[in-house]
Amino acid sequence: MPPYIVPGLTDTDASRICMTECKAMCCRGPLILELTAGETPAFARNIAAMGLTQDIKRREDGSGWVRFSDYAGERCPMLDPATFACRIYESRPRRCREFPERKTPGCAISGG
Ligand code: SF4
Ligand code: SF4
Repeated sequence: MPPYIVPGLTDTDASRICMTECKAMCCRGPLILELTAGETPAFARNIAAMGLTQDIKRREDGSGWVRFSDYAGERCPMLDPATFACRIYESRPRRCREFPERKTPGCAISGG
């Protein structure tokens, strides 16, 4: 499902708002990022490649989750804290690709 973006707002404008105005609010704070079984191995490798020792949480079915509070700055380990850009934007998890699904309070690009 594609994300819900205010009608007329371009992807470029939405990215600018996310990084410079909202400063990636949905990628930081006391949140949990869900990963599918197919996404979990690559995400774990990305975390290891950054030299971080914390691993992701895993379920028996292969899916997993990342608790931002486990990482420095209470943010997704893939978030660049200097630019508020996602370091794996082109291959970001499905949950990130689909958010926001609807007008969401506090989410500027959805009109919330
Ligand atoms: S909360 Fe909405 S506006 Fe803010 S970074 Fe996330 S998607 Fe972008
Ligand atoms: S993977 Fe990228 S888009 Fe998804 S929460 Fe982390 S920094 Fe944000």
